[in-house]
Parts: sequence; structure tokens; C-alpha cells
Amino acid sequence: MAEAHLRVGDLHAQYGESRILHGMNFTVHRGEVVTLLGRNGAGKTTTLRAIMGLVARKSGSVVFEGRELLGRLPEAVARAGIAWCPEERAIFSGLTVQENLMLPPVVRPGGMSIQEILTLFPNLAQRMKSPGTKLSGGEQQMLAIGRILRTGAQLLLLDEPSEGLAPVIIEQIGLTIQKLKARGISILLVEQNVRFATGVADRHYVVEHGEVVDTFSSTEVDNKSAQLSAYLSV
Ligand code: ATP
Repeated sequence: MAEAHLRVGDLHAQYGESRILHGMNFTVHRGEVVTLLGRNGAGKTTTLRAIMGLVARKSGSVVFEGRELLGRLPEAVARAGIAWCPEERAIFSGLTVQENLMLPPVVRPGGMSIQEILTLFPNLAQRMKSPGTKLSGGEQQMLAIGRILRTGAQLLLLDEPSEGLAPVIIEQIGLTIQKLKARGISILLVEQNVRFATGVADRHYVVEHGEVVDTFSSTEVDNKSAQLSAYLSV
């Protein structure tokens, strides 16, 4: 089997003395969409933050394109070709859409042009001069994803992109994820919306208490639905 694009092995992480990840293991192959599913507080966001180098106390391994990244600074992880789209979207409210799009540096050849990004998200084309504060939640999410596509990143970490959005916008984000996958971009998606996750992703890892406790492909979802409800119920 081909070497994984991202291989996370025995990843432990803690905030101060509070241990959150207890040995996460999973892989993402090139051009694959993989989800981390699990209840609030399971450790999904912490996993993305640890991959990005944003958690100080951690151990294990994060191998991307054959290189160990654990212990590297966030900017080095970004330069290696991983981009993070946080749940809160982090749009700069004082900057226009255009300025937000231009902000992240291009780290790899092959990033999308502004024109390509606007083709993917036509709603943003009408909003280029609008300040970030004036955007709807859906537009903010599109800008947050569009912004990282310019960088040329080959692995996108998307934290709950469907959260709080109308079904029609969620559908548009799902279609965008499929288009990115078709370009060979790999996506690690944190989600609680199982319907959205199973519609867009190839494989899933269920996270509980900072560990992967189950894994299945989207084609197995129908057989797993009772188990999945149990995993995700509060
Ligand atoms: P959610 O959807 O609620 O974000 P999650 O699975 O992404 O869920 P995390 O955000 O990774 O979960 O949080 C895991 C645990 O770590 C939670 O108990 C949370 O309270 C704790 N935690 C998160 N960030 C910090 C922090 N900066 N300092 C201390 N504890 C934190």
C-alpha cells in the first residue's frame, strides 16, 4: 500500500497537567477525505491543533509526506503544506474579503489563483470589497476555506465547516470538498454532523476520550448507524 500522506502515530497531548490525547492513531492517504467523528470534548480539535504545532505538550509522531513534523513550529508545519481552518473561522473583520484572501503566504507552487477560488465560491466574488464583519456565516466559512487554497497546501484540516450553516450552504461546502479531493488535495475533517460527514468523506475515525475507538468507510455507514448514534449521543 502507498505511504500515507499523513500518518499520526501514538499522539499524546496535554494542556498543562490535563491530558487530552491518549495515543491517537490514524492515516490520511493522498486525495482522501477522512473524518474524525466524536462528541464534544473528545479531543478532535486538540488533534488538529497538535498536528499544526499549536499544543505545547505533546509526543508521538505526525509524519506528512514522509517527514516528521511533531515538534516543529506552526509556521514550519504550514510551510510543509498543511493548512488549518479553525472552527471559529478567524476572518479578519477589519479587512475586506479580498484582503483576507491575500493574507496567507503561498507556501507551495500549485495554489489556486483568486479567480479559481471565486469560481469555486461565486458568492465571494460579489463581496470582494466588503469587510469581514459584513459576511454571513456561510460566506465566512467559504472565505476561510478559500483563503487557505491560495497557499498551495496539500492537506487541509477543516474543523466543523458545517457548523451553524443552512442546509443549502452545507451542500455547497460538500461539493467544494469533492472538487478539492478531485484535485488530489487531502482533507482531514472534524465533524459532528454525521450526515454531512458520511456524504463527503471516504473513511471515518470515531474519537472518544482522546483515542480512536472505531474506524469505518462511508459504505459501511448503514450497517453502523446504531453504533454511530451511540458514539455521538450525549
Ligand atoms: P468540541 O467539538 O467541543 O471542540 P473536541 O472533540 O474538538 O470537541 P477539544 O476541543 O479537542 O474537543 O477538547 C478536548 C478537551 O480539552 C475538552 O475537555 C476541553 O475542555 C479541553 N481543552 C480544550 N482546549 C483547552 C485549553 N486551551 N486548555 C485546557 N483545556 C482545553
